[in-house]
Amino acid sequence: MNPPMHTATDLIIEHNAPIPTWFKVGGRADALARPTTVEQVRDLLLMFAHQPVRVLGDGANLLVDDEGVDGLVLDLRSMNRVDWPDDSAEPIVRAQAGANLPKLITEAVRRGLAGIETLAGIPATLGGAIVMNAGGAFGQISDSVHHVHALTRTGELLSIPIPEIHFSYRHSGLNHLIIVAADLRLRRVAHAEQPALRDRLKEVMAYKKNSQPMADNSAGCYWKNPTDPADPTKRLSAGKLIDDCGLKGVTFGGATVSPVHANFVVTAEGCKARDIVALMESVRRRVTERTGITLEPEVVYWRRG
Ligand SMILES: Cc1cc2nc3c(=O)[nH]c(=O)nc-3n(C[C@H](O)[C@H](O)[C@H](O)COP(=O)(O)OP(=O)(O)OC[C@H]3O[C@@H](n4cnc5c(N)ncnc54)[C@H](O)[C@@H]3O)c2cc1C
Repeated sequence: MNPPMHTATDLIIEHNAPIPTWFKVGGRADALARPTTVEQVRDLLLMFAHQPVRVLGDGANLLVDDEGVDGLVLDLRSMNRVDWPDDSAEPIVRAQAGANLPKLITEAVRRGLAGIETLAGIPATLGGAIVMNAGGAFGQISDSVHHVHALTRTGELLSIPIPEIHFSYRHSGLNHLIIVAADLRLRRVAHAEQPALRDRLKEVMAYKKNSQPMADNSAGCYWKNPTDPADPTKRLSAGKLIDDCGLKGVTFGGATVSPVHANFVVTAEGCKARDIVALMESVRRRVTERTGITLEPEVVYWRRG
């Protein structure tokens, strides 16, 4: 096995490193680094200028192929600094991309800052949540984004204001960039209203726990909710379409369509990425045969090449 390498800024690059994901399946990264500064990210981009570079957040929306991935995986979770505004300042929070979203939400609510409590229960880093425009029944991260700070593949630092970001359902258009930080505009809540904000957080969490298999290994919803062919302004529930096809509980190898929520695929010990791919391809085929609708994956699939 190759020994670890060092970059100019003395960052260790691991070879044949495991890639932590919520599915808990998949192969390794040929190279993986955990930068702590923008300068280190730049340094790595230069070193891997002619190879694929993939950004890892919390791995909550990722399926990694059994053969692993080539090039570099940039694990940004050590870039997690959060600057909270003073009580008298505008309620804008600047956080690095690797900041843990659930912790950010809890701390915002503790400080009486509202806006992101609608995303409670979504595992993510801030960068991953922005790229995916994570959200659900109560709101989405784009409702609170003010500015995104990101590097291009050649190391240029961009500061992008919200009007220039084309957010839509589970889409940001920022996937070609490496998000390093973001400013979130929150809403300061009067002292007397803070218990109501804390209750709201609990309510959103309870909704998630009651409707989704939160304790199982999964990547959340596997498919995007498709647009309704009868009314393209609306979306249909992918989970309901799968459920209506009688596919809840269907298993292939170590992968199962969750009996709790049909849009979740959950994995058992020993599951392979290929089990998930095979299961979800058969789910997609059955849904198309029955409804004429072709489901599109929300989960990001990493493979070599
Ligand atoms: C139990 C469970 C429940 C979930 N519920 C929801 C839900 O209710 N709503 C919802 O929207 N999602 C949900 N998800 C999916 C997941 O939480 C979101 O998609 C989340 O935004 C993923 O963030 P992440 O940091 O884990 O990104 P990752 O999974 O690590 O990466 C996802 C994609 O974002 C890219 N990326 C990550 N960070 C950066 C960055 N800094 N710069 C550029 N690209 C980056 C990656 O390269 C990859 O393409 C759920 C997942 C689980 C496991």
